Amino acid sequence: MQELEVLLDKLQTFKKMYQAMRIVDPIEKKVLDFRENKLCETGVACYKFWQKQHLCENCVSMRAFNENDTIFKIECSGDEVYMLTAVPVAIEDRQLVVELLKNTTNNLFWGNGKHDEGIKLFTMIDQINQAAVRDSLTGLYNRRYIDERLPVDILNSSLKHQPLSIVFADLDYFKKINDTYGHSSGDLVLKEFAKELKRHIRREKDWTARYGGEEFFICLPNTSLEAAKKVAERIRSSIEKKEFVVDGKPVHITCSFGVYTACNENECMTVDSIIELVDRQLYKAKSHGRNRIE
Ligand code: GH3
Ligand code: MG
Ligand code: MG
Repeated sequence: MQELEVLLDKLQTFKKMYQAMRIVDPIEKKVLDFRENKLCETGVACYKFWQKQHLCENCVSMRAFNENDTIFKIECSGDEVYMLTAVPVAIEDRQLVVELLKNTTNNLFWGNGKHDEGIKLFTMIDQINQAAVRDSLTGLYNRRYIDERLPVDILNSSLKHQPLSIVFADLDYFKKINDTYGHSSGDLVLKEFAKELKRHIRREKDWTARYGGEEFFICLPNTSLEAAKKVAERIRSSIEKKEFVVDGKPVHITCSFGVYTACNENECMTVDSIIELVDRQLYKAKSHGRNRIE
């Protein structure tokens, strides 16, 4: 318990510097508390601080946890601007994060410190936070978001005994599109493809990300293998039928899909193992002729 005492002592030093200090489990998204020298669950979700009912995008604690380093972030909440510091700590064999939250609405200055820059700063903070987890071409989430969000979905589905399905999509012969119409036309096709993906997933629960070049990742929480295959089939068939217009000319593409469902709660799933398994399925779809689901 000595490490605990040292930590508490250190936190006292900072009490005047911060509005709030808390210990967070970044995967379970729970705030923990020290009572009678013991680490206790408070039952409070960490994102409640931000008056949100859902997980934060660009989660500072998840970043600190993944990178095992102290991470700083500026975040807006209502009319206020907060400076967050997330410090990874190991307590009682648990990897946790100490979050220090400082309301900097009136004492954070930008560049020359002009007060009238405040509004601009507000919009910029939002844009910066979005940029960290979004792919700039398609507006979908990026690879970093997968690394930070997927562990949360893995844990949730195992706690709730629900299946978690992942669909991995890769456009077929996309190199030909670039070679025939040029790279910027290829970009347009990718943007349209991303829009189509979003049309086919549930807004509240599912999420989709651009994994890399012409590879896309779809996460379907609480979805069985059968249901996930149906989602993939709907996307496959709508892409096959869709007329993409490039330079005024109609272009047709197809896409291959790998589907994997984690449903055994004893299965020890990680981001890497899920991606490896779903990628294997995608590889099969490619080698069995493309424009299909495995
Ligand atoms: P396969 O059916 O085997 O998937 O064939 P493919 O041609 O799609 O596969 P390959 O991986 O060989 O090529 C992917 C191509 O995607 C190559 C690259 O030029 C293109 N690409 C990757 N990222 C982008 C991008 O951001 N914009 C554009 N326009 N093209 C991209
Ligand atoms: Mg590819
Ligand atoms: Mg491809």
